[in-house]
Amino acid sequence: MSEIKLTIGHFYPDLLNLYGDRGNVLALYTRAVRRGIDVEIKEISIGDELNPSEVDIAFLGGGQDNEQNILKDDLVHVKGPTIKSMIEDGKVFLCICGGYQMLGKYYLEHNGNKLECLGAIDIYTEGKKERFIQDTIYEIELPSGKTVKVAGFENHSGRTHLGPSVQPFMKVIKGAGNNGEDGFEGARYKNCFCTYSHGSFLPKNAAVTDLLLETALKNKYGEDYVLPELSSEIEDLALSKALEYLNG
Ligand code: GLN
Repeated sequence: MSEIKLTIGHFYPDLLNLYGDRGNVLALYTRAVRRGIDVEIKEISIGDELNPSEVDIAFLGGGQDNEQNILKDDLVHVKGPTIKSMIEDGKVFLCICGGYQMLGKYYLEHNGNKLECLGAIDIYTEGKKERFIQDTIYEIELPSGKTVKVAGFENHSGRTHLGPSVQPFMKVIKGAGNNGEDGFEGARYKNCFCTYSHGSFLPKNAAVTDLLLETALKNKYGEDYVLPELSSEIEDLALSKALEYLNG
């Protein structure tokens, strides 16, 4: 048994699970286990207890407007205060599309229905009839200062706008990103990372997977913790094929 342990809290896996979003959890699991780290995946849905000390990385996938309405009360009123303090304390979160929108202040659906969201990060989203649906390429700067390209897929009606306390997660090279206007994609507040990229986002972007793993393990074991080196040939092959397909 390894001395290093990591627990991934997969929130609402029965409701937020579009386009293979679970692949992100599997990518985190796989790149940690290959390094000899003990990983547990905890599924936390409506009515389940949330103990923040038992979650090192929290994951929320994407969902349709309908599912977002179903889980809203549990997310905002039951787990909300705990999730907010986890984010303020620097816990690592990865939130995709619908999960991303739900952490913000509100989501105004294109049909006029206003969904009051958690307000854990200073963003808001307004939906339009025309959806952004396409494969995407972004650029991200890693803590080492190195800039890498990442590939994703987006499908959203929501246009998200960031407030001053929130940084964009990535820069758009191809795709719409947050709102199709400002050239940025996703959001970062403390260690809460949000993106519109669905499905096999982490499986083909090992640099982002490792950024999340190292941040979570430094949180848990101290700043001196260094994530062991690990090859990423398969992930890099998937990434280069995606970039090649998009002429990126
Ligand atoms: N319902 C949201 C939108 O359309 C999120 C959809 C998603 O998670 N793909 O913007």
